[in-house]
Amino acid sequence: MKETAIELKNLLNSPKNIVITTHRGPDGDAIGSSLGLYHLLKQLGHTVNVITPNEYANFLHWLPGNEKVLVYEGNEEKADAITANADLIFLLDFSHLSRIATFTDTVSKSNATKIMIDHHQDPDRDIAELIFSDTTACSTAQLVYEIMEAMEMTSYLNKEIAECLYVGIMTDTGSFKYSSTTAKTHHIIAELINAGAENAKIHDLIYDNSSANRIKLLGYCLNEKLRLYPENNAAIISLTAEELERFEFKKGDTEGLVNYALAIEGIKFAIFIAEKDGLVKLSLRSKGNFKVNEIAGKYFSGGGHMNASGGIYEASVNETIKKVEQIINEYKTELNKTN
Ligand code: 5GP
Ligand code: MN
Repeated sequence: MKETAIELKNLLNSPKNIVITTHRGPDGDAIGSSLGLYHLLKQLGHTVNVITPNEYANFLHWLPGNEKVLVYEGNEEKADAITANADLIFLLDFSHLSRIATFTDTVSKSNATKIMIDHHQDPDRDIAELIFSDTTACSTAQLVYEIMEAMEMTSYLNKEIAECLYVGIMTDTGSFKYSSTTAKTHHIIAELINAGAENAKIHDLIYDNSSANRIKLLGYCLNEKLRLYPENNAAIISLTAEELERFEFKKGDTEGLVNYALAIEGIKFAIFIAEKDGLVKLSLRSKGNFKVNEIAGKYFSGGGHMNASGGIYEASVNETIKKVEQIINEYKTELNKTN
């Protein structure tokens, strides 16, 4: 980390045109780490643009700098022009170019120096010149903080950076409860609070700020859409496009839903299936050593972390449920191990 950070510091020595991008369907870590880095680079005197492949949840729109984010879908020409002019492109919270969807072509064609900052498994090392990849890190936001430290730039830490990185770390650790949360994470959080991140305010804005429809959708899912496979320690929640429409679905409304299935005693493998944008999106979660990233990669053109992954399936919701049931059955021995 230290050597790469010094190389990065040298690159940042003179004013640059910089693009920061992150994965499609940006979550709290994607937006938090991108905007945290944005506020650092602005202070260093660079021209900085954050470009996300597509829109993201409303509960992230309060983040400082959100109004500066350019969404690629619908603004292709403008974003292509900005990217063509970039000296540096930061790739945050992903490590395969397919994760930036329709923005992929523009980024791969650019001659800019690319810098990857990510914590996912098996990074594609061919897509960036400088690589900060730490699969043990709880979040990309934590890595951004560690890179600031390694560049000896923590004096630039201000309230804006602190709030953004706090959101990234908080959302990717399930509010500091996943095993990826370390003493170092808590030390960093302490620094962020010292720098002005208001923990209670941030938790409220992210978690206790839902539309009534979102809470009703949650109730509907738990009461009527939960399929339990207790003999194999698995559970599925599924939603069709029609059901999402009935609850006036907005981006972010189903985030975290899968965790309710995983919160049931004994459940080690939870799957959330939702029909969105003409295909089926899956969120896979597990406890212990059950590797959902392998399943996401093998069956659903996706990936992620050992205990939290995602993917897609080009079929109906019912066909997807059948496929997942087959997979649960195939892995039943592993799902019945005691670890
Ligand atoms: P979620 O279920 O919240 O959409 O995603 C959980 C995790 O899986 C995140 O770390 C995310 O980066 C990863 N992930 C989600 N969808 C995909 C996908 O289509 N491809 C890959 N490679 N990773 C994904
Ligand atoms: Mn992340």
